[in-house]
Amino acid sequence: MPSASRPLTAPIYQTNVYVFEDMDTVESVWEHKKPGFVYGRYGTANHTMLEDLVAALEGAEAAVACASGMGATTALLFGLFERGDHVVAARDLYGTTAAFLSDEGRRLGIATDFVDATDAAGILAALRDNTRAVFVEAISNPLLRLVDLPAIAGELSRRRIELIVDASMASPAVLRPIEHGASIVMHSLTKFISGHGDVTGAWCSAGRTRWRGCATP
Ligand SMILES: *Cc1c(COP(=O)(O)O)cnc(C)c1O
Repeated sequence: MPSASRPLTAPIYQTNVYVFEDMDTVESVWEHKKPGFVYGRYGTANHTMLEDLVAALEGAEAAVACASGMGATTALLFGLFERGDHVVAARDLYGTTAAFLSDEGRRLGIATDFVDATDAAGILAALRDNTRAVFVEAISNPLLRLVDLPAIAGELSRRRIELIVDASMASPAVLRPIEHGASIVMHSLTKFISGHGDVTGAWCSAGRTRWRGCATP
């Protein structure tokens, strides 16, 4: 039984499925009419603790915990884009992210143009009618280049283009990109947030986005 008093340290829930007394309760929990969890892939109490914490740290509306940084990027690719969409991305994105956008993106019919992210005017000049998102790193890994978020955020918001910021190399203590106009922020927890080289994980948090996550990261 759960303790009636609140444990000081969050317990780890080592379960994937949950027991329900009747089908009506399953349905209510499934439809978010009652609190609770149904199946681990859709969330667990531990996911929710992390998500609520990071959403508060980021000043975000909500957050989604993911298994890795690349899991978060994959969720964004599948959750946001369709065949025929165009992405403007920083030329010095984390190598795996750049390869993923260009290789898997191309295979799915999503075109990516890589630009110098330190040149705000150059980012805006690369936008097309079908541009769905601009994908940058707040501080790039490994070259530590900076992007001027407020210089591009206004125009992107007007054109309803998502501003996705990978802030893994900063942390919410240094930079909260939503305050500077980002619509989605992702972090690889594997880096500064975990800090000890013993964790793989990630989160995506949402500001003014139409993205509502997807069920598989
Ligand atoms: C490491 C890293 C990623 C990928 O994160 P994983 O947790 O290793 O999948 C993405 N972006 C940046 C900037 C990174 O440093």
